[in-house]
Amino acid sequence: MFSKILIANRGEIACRIIKTAKKMGIQTVAVYSDADRNALHVTLADEAIHIGPSPSTESYLVIDNIIQAALSSGAQAIHPGYGFLSENADLCRQCDANKLIFIGPPVAAILAMGSKSAAKNIMAKANVPLVPGYHGDDQNPAILKQSADDMGYPVLLKAAAGGGGKGMRAVYHADEFDQALAAAKREAKHSFNDEIMLVEKYLQKPRHVEIQVFCDQHNNAVHLFERDCSLQRRHQKVIEEAPAPGMTEALRQRMGQAAIRAATAIDYQGAGTVEFLLDSNGEFFFMEMNTRLQVEHPVTEMISGQDLVEWQLRVANGEALPCTQDQLKIKGHAFEARIYAEDPEHDFLPSTGNLRLLQPPKETAHVRIDSGIVEGDEVSVFYDPMITKLVVWDIDRERALQRLTEALSDYKIAGVTTNIPFLYNLASSAAFRRGDVDTGFIEEHEDEIFQRRQEDLDYAAPLAAQAILAAQKRSAQELAKQSNEPNSPWHLVNHWRASDNSPQRLNVTIGTEQIEVISPAPTLPANIKAVSNENGFNLFTPKGVFHCAATQPDLGLDQDQDSSANLAAPMNGTVVTLLVEVGTAVAKGETLMVMEAMKMEHSIAAPSDGKVSEFFYQPGELVDGGAELLGFEIAEV
Ligand code: ADP
Repeated sequence: MFSKILIANRGEIACRIIKTAKKMGIQTVAVYSDADRNALHVTLADEAIHIGPSPSTESYLVIDNIIQAALSSGAQAIHPGYGFLSENADLCRQCDANKLIFIGPPVAAILAMGSKSAAKNIMAKANVPLVPGYHGDDQNPAILKQSADDMGYPVLLKAAAGGGGKGMRAVYHADEFDQALAAAKREAKHSFNDEIMLVEKYLQKPRHVEIQVFCDQHNNAVHLFERDCSLQRRHQKVIEEAPAPGMTEALRQRMGQAAIRAATAIDYQGAGTVEFLLDSNGEFFFMEMNTRLQVEHPVTEMISGQDLVEWQLRVANGEALPCTQDQLKIKGHAFEARIYAEDPEHDFLPSTGNLRLLQPPKETAHVRIDSGIVEGDEVSVFYDPMITKLVVWDIDRERALQRLTEALSDYKIAGVTTNIPFLYNLASSAAFRRGDVDTGFIEEHEDEIFQRRQEDLDYAAPLAAQAILAAQKRSAQELAKQSNEPNSPWHLVNHWRASDNSPQRLNVTIGTEQIEVISPAPTLPANIKAVSNENGFNLFTPKGVFHCAATQPDLGLDQDQDSSANLAAPMNGTVVTLLVEVGTAVAKGETLMVMEAMKMEHSIAAPSDGKVSEFFYQPGELVDGGAELLGFEIAEV
């Protein structure tokens, strides 16, 4: 076995790999950028080498720097993790050239699956069913459009080099095709420096079911069952689970065999994932193969009892697979929730800032936290906003789901906005509990997930009021303790009165609603949790999460609407295009300009009917989050 490996990655996955290496007695070398000087993966590794400035294009993506770091540290192998250079054939070639072992598949396998179009050609030959579509070389826009017209709308445009849902656009009508193609190409160019597009039939409400495969250098190949990753937003996975709800043994066999055919068709080695779309008739179609360890590999580990990083290291070291197909068994059910620094209520915009508070739930046999951050860390604009993964396991789906909601309501993070409340609402929704999932789930259940129904507000208001009273009581007691006059009534600057049983009135704000509560219950029920955040607290209940605060007194400020409004940048980023002329009338919701941040495009839409009076930035310019982007005059009614 290797005595030392270098990990060409950061964050949770670097920490995850270090964990297994330690267990196996292998020394680890971390690499880091300026921003990651004090990051957890640097602290955990035996050695750490600085490889450049904060932007990943100048550090984690610079192959020469990675290879130099490996050579100078005496590492024998490089683990690329996921993302960054994990599917980069050049890194693999450079490893070969420098007598380093790449912990992953051979160059040819990466190349074969590197382009979604080329991969589809190979899969067709290997008798793996494909999503119908155009995956040809001719990229003439007219040809692409013709193929869409022929197969019928809706279609999905995809970047051949794509990943992470980038460079992807659904097109519902022929007349939207050209604009969607331009946008998809732009995003693909930015993200992958490659504009080649494929056009696929956009299947309605499929499930995303993927198979974990493993192959060694001795012609052994197994699959480690499936993962259902249907819960997605913007085509990116949010909660994954294994096994897939409702999966039959017969279908699992068929999908598993197809995945093994896909892998053996390209002489695969190591960990790979074959992604399929599964329709409601049990028909499945190949989408792509990821030639690396996936973000969601822990759910497979939890149900199979195997350590997939250990498998990767053994296979890279030339050993045979640790198990045969017959020895692999599914035990129980697992979920993974990806915790992101982002704001689901504002179009999932990434959030940056300092993690003032970070209190994950306790790790047990049922709860696993794969994290790369510690309290006080900065979530910066430079990297992916996924900060940690919460993984739970239990003997069946229902119990595992219960573990998931409990653990989510126990996860305390302050300093950045996170998607924890959103994940909690997803996990506690009735439809998800039924296992009734497809890739349109989040859109279909928007109301339930971002709930604002009157009956829900009526349910939450007394609980919120009780939580406020409890907090005020605590702070009054704190103040009294610190004071020289512990019994002074002046410490009770709030609603709480020590020994007064007369009805109490309290105003609470839930979301944007203000509700008056009279005499809330004396204590908060055991299944309710209030977790404070920046501007109030999140109330975790069996009916989902509510954002609450004590209502501030009305200061009688003039609420008159101004007739002009300036639109601010939702976050740090670059202006991509301006889409309207200054002074020309636009309708509410029309896209005025496009910004790019963290490699994703964000449209800035007209807040009402009106016109742009001035753009303050031009395409290509960098903008700070919060800076005013444009002046807007609201049309008179
Ligand atoms: P990426 O590599 O960018 O992640 P994928 O090809 O894996 O892109 O697709 C991501 C997601 O987009 C899938 O999980 C699925 O939800 C959706 N998707 C992809 N292709 C189709 C299709 N032809 N029809 C319907 N949904 C699709």
